[in-house]
Amino acid sequence: MALESSRLAYERAKGSVGGGVGSGLRAAMRPHPLFVREARGAHLWDLDGDRYVDYVMAWGPLVLGHGDPRITEAVAEVATRMQVVGTGHELEYLAAEAVLAAVPHGERLLWSNTGTEAVQVALRLARAATGRRRVLKFARSYHGWHDSVYAGLAEADSGKPAAPASKGQSPSALDDLVVGGFNDVAVAEHLLAEAVERDIAAVLVDPILSNGGVEAPTAEFLLTLRSLCDKYGVILIFDEVIAGFRIARGGAAEKYGGRPDLSVFGKAMAGGFTQSAVVGRADLIDQVDDGVVHAGTFNSNPIALAAVEATMRVLADPSVYETLDTISAYFDAKVGSALEAVPGSGTFNRVGSLLQYVPASGATGLHGTGGSWGAILEGMLRRGHLFMPSGKVFLSTAHTISDVEATVEALEKVLCEL
Ligand code: PMP
Repeated sequence: MALESSRLAYERAKGSVGGGVGSGLRAAMRPHPLFVREARGAHLWDLDGDRYVDYVMAWGPLVLGHGDPRITEAVAEVATRMQVVGTGHELEYLAAEAVLAAVPHGERLLWSNTGTEAVQVALRLARAATGRRRVLKFARSYHGWHDSVYAGLAEADSGKPAAPASKGQSPSALDDLVVGGFNDVAVAEHLLAEAVERDIAAVLVDPILSNGGVEAPTAEFLLTLRSLCDKYGVILIFDEVIAGFRIARGGAAEKYGGRPDLSVFGKAMAGGFTQSAVVGRADLIDQVDDGVVHAGTFNSNPIALAAVEATMRVLADPSVYETLDTISAYFDAKVGSALEAVPGSGTFNRVGSLLQYVPASGATGLHGTGGSWGAILEGMLRRGHLFMPSGKVFLSTAHTISDVEATVEALEKVLCEL
């Protein structure tokens, strides 16, 4: 792969687009971001027309791969009739009913556009319900770029006052954040036993730590959070922006049991279109009828909701998750053993169709990860396989055994060159 057109496009983009990328984290790509002309199934074509096997899947949304006709046809049908209308339409409740049918604790929902936005809505509902202001999150978890939660991204941040992770972030917003340790029951017990004194309104947890190494929760951790929240009047929020509709149709509640009060969904719920939602207890959601403001010009736009409804229809077929699991297990076994054959190269952690590279040192990162990953990332791109700087790997139902075999072959060559 020459990559020359992407390099030139990146240089040109820097002249007009801040940072040269649409989302800051994409700048961590090595040797530079790929510029794409077309995407179908499990593949992308760059500006030179070179084809890549895509393990980025748009950073998570594309459980069915790029351009699944079942989604694009539903969107195309609506797009010619209406785009955004700023008033009610049938898809608002048809799509909502389909989501609620999938999520075990789904009684009601609110529509929003991005995961970051929906997290803020969920926190507002929790604060309104409890009359408290603070939020307990866990070290290494990412909940969007908003001032109030963009902190505590490293393991060492557990138990420390939250510090801004970006320049320009308001430190006062972080007075409301308390950082615990993922799967650390003792710290959660200690902090939540003082929930009233500490003014804790909500526990915000990504149940599989999807940006911090893909780690499954212990049964004890989720159960303890549930019972502590019940005991001390705290709202339990699952951030399922990555994991939702990917690890199981009903998300973490289906996979691990245990019921949050609210879940935040995004990415995969609309098969590649922009949509997020807060889903959960009706009494919490219904606070929007009683003083909680939830607003947004593009909320529940027909294009995205046509995509949600169509995606929900496809995901209702259990064979989707069987297919995803089979191809992901195959990737884990084959690509994982190619890595393990070279001592010190690291390994993958996997939950369903979400994997993350874990370097031999054990530490993964949101923006880019350590160990050999930087070199692997660049080497694999040059051989036609696109991965993410953070080492997360997203599979879809469009990936085939032969895609994975080609990836193994390329990886073996890249590892030899390291
Ligand atoms: N929560 C989690 C767990 C996420 O992974 C992300 C995005 N990667 C977000 C929230 C924020 O979602 P968005 O990028 O759509 O704002």
